[in-house]
Amino acid sequence: MAVLDVLTMGRSGVDIYPLQSGVGLADVTSFGKYLGGSPTNVAVAAARYGRSAAVITKTGDDPFGQFVRQALAGYRVDSTHVGVSGIAPTPVTFCEIFPPDDFPLYFYRLPSAPDLDIRPDELDLDAVASARIFWMSGTGLCAEPSRSATLAALEHRAGAGTTVFDLDWRPMFWGDPAQARTLYRQALAHATVAVGNREECEVATGESEPYAAARALIGLGVEVAVVKQGPKGVLAMDRTGGTVEVPPVPVDVVNGLGAGDAFGGALCHGLLSGWELERVMRFANAAGAIVAGELACSDAMPDEALVEAKIKENKGV
Ligand code: ADP
Repeated sequence: MAVLDVLTMGRSGVDIYPLQSGVGLADVTSFGKYLGGSPTNVAVAAARYGRSAAVITKTGDDPFGQFVRQALAGYRVDSTHVGVSGIAPTPVTFCEIFPPDDFPLYFYRLPSAPDLDIRPDELDLDAVASARIFWMSGTGLCAEPSRSATLAALEHRAGAGTTVFDLDWRPMFWGDPAQARTLYRQALAHATVAVGNREECEVATGESEPYAAARALIGLGVEVAVVKQGPKGVLAMDRTGGTVEVPPVPVDVVNGLGAGDAFGGALCHGLLSGWELERVMRFANAAGAIVAGELACSDAMPDEALVEAKIKENKGV
């Protein structure tokens, strides 16, 4: 079995985005179709840097599930761990586009979604344990059996390589949002890196001020805490309390959705490359900005040359 650079776990589906900007869904007349689901797009983003990547997810038994597999193949992401569930159709997600910073999302994942039907007994534990980076997201903890499967995967990692917890907070998926903090803390105890925006950090720690949130995440067991602040840049803190703050890369925002996943894939690439934390953050920050400047998420994930060019352009070199 080949060891994967990046193995992600969680949501997949189809993003259906308006081809018109500044118009509400009631009035949009044409849409584009893209591969969606945050952990899925993190795997796509990592693969753009030449990393071997796979995703543990499930789709419905329908043409959109077929599209998810085809799209993954097109992006050179291994779909061996993409299962099929009969509990629901492949989810679709619509958004509205009101730049610079208003992108409401409409998830069609109720009453449940195939990726929440991942069971612990179906996990390929060898793949989970051996991946150089294992990446999971908070949404995977919102319902059973995905909750038990995600926690089982985390426990099975037990100190192997890098384990990233994307704090991804989507309250609408939680029957009881008050459960989230307990589960987030349970997961954090097994993670080595935590990534989230300020709201997501607050769910996990009760703190939303970036420095306080980063300190609290380190206190909960991770080695590196990353607080994304959208157009305000990013803060990273390591176990020694050392911090790196990176300002935003200026961009004319087209669609802010997907910037976080671009950031995530780039973060994986930087960590795997063994770069200093500051270089990792500059790289991930620029990758996020590039995708914020495009309509698509998966289709817009940059390669290394594009990100380096963006960093250089921003320095005015
Ligand atoms: P999420 O979508 O997960 O909430 P953010 O909105 O914080 O994540 O975006 C992820 C990253 O993408 C940010 O940390 C930043 O690097 C980049 N980014 C997002 N929006 C912008 C923006 N308007 N200008 C510059 N960079 C951005």
